[in-house]
Amino acid sequence: MSHYIAVNVIKGAHALADRAKKELDRAKESFGAGAKAEFPNTGYFLPVIYAMTGEKVEKLSDMDRVIGIVDDLLPPVPEGRHYLPYLGEALDAGMATLFCDEIIEGIKYIDNGKCPYTKTTNPTEDNLWLGAADDVIMRERGLEFVDGTAPGFAAIVGAAPDNGTAVRIARELQEKNLYVFMSHDTDGKNMAEQLAEEDVQMGWETRLVPFGKDITATVFALGFAARAAMSFGGATPGDFRKVLMYNKNRIFAFVLSFGPVSDVRFAQAAGAINYGFPTIADTDITQILPTGICTYEHVVSPVGHGEMVQKAIEVRGLKVTVHKIPIPVSFGPAFEGERIRKEQMHAQFGGNITPAFEFVTTRDMGEVEDGRIEVIGPEIDDVKKGSALPLGIVAEVAGRKMQSDFEPILERYVHTFINEAQGVWHMGQRDINWIRISDQAKEKGFKIAHLGTIIHAKFHAEYNTILDKVQVRLYTKEEDVLKLRETARREYAARDRRLAGLTDEAVDTFYSCTLCQSFAPTHVCVLTPERTGLCGGYNWLDGKAAFEITPTGPNQPIKKNETLDGVKGRWSGVDAFLNEASRGALTTFNAYSIMDNPMTSCGCFECIAALLPMCNGIMTVNREFAGMTPCGMKFSTLAGSVGGGNQTPGFVGHSKQYIGSKKFISADGGIKRLVWMPRALKEELAAMINARGKEEGVENLTDMICDETIAETEDKVFEFLQEKGHPAVSMPSLI
Ligand code: SF4
Ligand code: ZN
Repeated sequence: MSHYIAVNVIKGAHALADRAKKELDRAKESFGAGAKAEFPNTGYFLPVIYAMTGEKVEKLSDMDRVIGIVDDLLPPVPEGRHYLPYLGEALDAGMATLFCDEIIEGIKYIDNGKCPYTKTTNPTEDNLWLGAADDVIMRERGLEFVDGTAPGFAAIVGAAPDNGTAVRIARELQEKNLYVFMSHDTDGKNMAEQLAEEDVQMGWETRLVPFGKDITATVFALGFAARAAMSFGGATPGDFRKVLMYNKNRIFAFVLSFGPVSDVRFAQAAGAINYGFPTIADTDITQILPTGICTYEHVVSPVGHGEMVQKAIEVRGLKVTVHKIPIPVSFGPAFEGERIRKEQMHAQFGGNITPAFEFVTTRDMGEVEDGRIEVIGPEIDDVKKGSALPLGIVAEVAGRKMQSDFEPILERYVHTFINEAQGVWHMGQRDINWIRISDQAKEKGFKIAHLGTIIHAKFHAEYNTILDKVQVRLYTKEEDVLKLRETARREYAARDRRLAGLTDEAVDTFYSCTLCQSFAPTHVCVLTPERTGLCGGYNWLDGKAAFEITPTGPNQPIKKNETLDGVKGRWSGVDAFLNEASRGALTTFNAYSIMDNPMTSCGCFECIAALLPMCNGIMTVNREFAGMTPCGMKFSTLAGSVGGGNQTPGFVGHSKQYIGSKKFISADGGIKRLVWMPRALKEELAAMINARGKEEGVENLTDMICDETIAETEDKVFEFLQEKGHPAVSMPSLI
């Protein structure tokens, strides 16, 4: 940090500390020192403070301790001096700044965000600010940082000089797969407001995240980074060195500062430099070029708006690998969550308006001409705005290692790939798909044929090890679509029969998934035909295909070998594999039991099941449910204590789909043990649960399963079960 700037940083940090103290005093006077002041639905408290100091802030009074730390960290304002010889003081001041930011933002959440002092800046439903990300978002988005789908983020402070520049910079960052976190204002305006005026869709799903308009909202970006280090980097709260090193080395991030840089903004920049995140500014401020803490320069200015993103990428040293796809619109995961409203679309296909389907099928090598894309029927230019056309997408693939088992997997990715084109929207699969192409995309020259271009390019990019050739036909005449849809439907049905018939007993090989070992080093998911990975993202077939595609990857075949216990689900081959893959930490598990050596839980489970001893049954809670559960813990607490790759009898993480499996805790009595689950989850899975209940001889099982609208404590749940005659009540004792 430049010695001149250090003075500004320290002044800025003092200003924020004064503000934090004032607001804390005022809040304590109005709400009492015991008032809850925490970010919503998180197990990481105020995350920067928690990561750096281990302090768990839940109430206003907890903040006093943090203020004490701030006072210790803050160097005195260097009155009358312009020059400081050392960097250290400014970095400490930067860290103190982040703590003050979190205190101020935490206060905004008093009483669920109803604190009257901060109304204008609170994230609420009627403004565009999103505020602190909860753990559901964190887990989903954080995984993208681990698996490389998102290399990092740009924290944008202030507003661009005009709306056009704002949109251009946002798009440029999205194309690089970066998240864009927005905070603060320049002359009363924030970049998110500029994007909103230009009708750009924002939110976590498009990676354009408006955190808040206050300068203190900048800290949410650093809080996100701190949580990534704790949940994926294995850093213990309080181990600030590890948290900061993880970020410096693993998270590609930088700050883009627009407009005049005030002292408080300098202070934020210094906070970010602690993490190794440099600042690129468009105004002429003193540059900080020598490297050390950051990978490259600390602060670079002034940089023209046309080059800011490029400069940031150079300075931080990101190697972006973008497979350029020859289509006239931008392409990348950031566009996946984009919606296209009816008024914005030029044409749509399927969605129960016209017949449509998508189908991937294997052909012989000689039958496929690689790269051939054909549209049979009208193209987009042949129809007027607002039209609906039939559409049959037939992708024919060939390759020496291609198997018909891979077809459904490739087909499932058609959804993701098409959605990644800007201005193109895709929903559903098979014969219930629905596609929209926007006016804007059409104006840029996007054609129906480009859907084929995307499929061809992405299939090659992702699945080159199994396929050699891809050709795509797009049918837009109704008679063709209707006829070919019948062929596709016969094949869909045949596939379903193949999968439905698959049982754990019928195969001799399972597949492992160790993707989550990057943050839960001893965790192994064993994918069996009747049990999906606990994140819900991978099933047995996926494991099988992934192994063929990447033989050295995280999915390996596991020979079952000798069955040691058919009821509990224990095999000698699986045990041997676990032992090795967990480096000796885990010697055995029972695939079908929650009570006796259950499977390990990494942390990304969709649901977590827990024993309710009094009820003689189990409850399960999904990640989206933020409320209290009858086992006395919220999802976030459960995840914190059971996750991390541990085996915890009485608890097991699982996918939503697994609840409908015949092997769902079958060793302990199966689905008839399920006594409590959140109402929304129960409704989502009602058909599946009732069908399974029926197979076990229980009609309308969902009516007997308790939820939070009926009871939140175990004894109340038990009363309900008795009243309803829930089967668990009369089953053999679980313990
Ligand atoms: Fe793989 Fe299991 Fe992690 Fe899902 S939860 S990614 S299946 S290890
Ligand atoms: Zn996981």
